[in-house]
Amino acid sequence: MKVLNEIKFIMPSLSVNESAARAVVSSFLIQADPTVEELSDIRTAVSEAVTNAVVHGYRGSSGKIELTVKLLEGREIYIRVKDSGCGIADIKQAMEPLFTTAPEEERSGLGFSVMESFTDRLTVRSKPGKGTVVTMRKRLSVHGS
Ligand code: ATP
Ligand code: MG
Repeated sequence: MKVLNEIKFIMPSLSVNESAARAVVSSFLIQADPTVEELSDIRTAVSEAVTNAVVHGYRGSSGKIELTVKLLEGREIYIRVKDSGCGIADIKQAMEPLFTTAPEEERSGLGFSVMESFTDRLTVRSKPGKGTVVTMRKRLSVHGS
């Protein structure tokens, strides 16, 4: 699908960058005139993915997180959040609702479920020791303005 516009935002794994990532995605997507709800869903999904990179991917360490946002033909939004952290051994299990490896931190294990329900498609690729790539797609509605 044809890419109409795209940005790449590279940030260190600091939790303050969870809100920076939300702000970046919002300001880029304004050109596509999303509804308030669509924008809110995308912001939340991006935030969950970046939080996971910070708290799980780079647990006890630090590194870079790369956020890519593309506006594709047909009002399709492509989002990719990539870290080079610890990776996920069992992706299927990690994506199950309520599964968490950090229950003592009051994590609820719902991040992937949120990403899945707030977007049209969620893909997770990961290799232990190499890192994780989360890809999401969402088609924006056509609405009168
Ligand atoms: P919540 O998101 O509700 O605070 P959570 O982060 O544990 O809790 P999910 O976001 O669904 O829940 O993630 C499930 C599990 O997948 C995590 O507990 C963690 O073990 C693993 N995981 C998710 N993202 C990453 C990542 N980027 N790197 C390494 N492990 C990850
Ligand atoms: Mg999470």
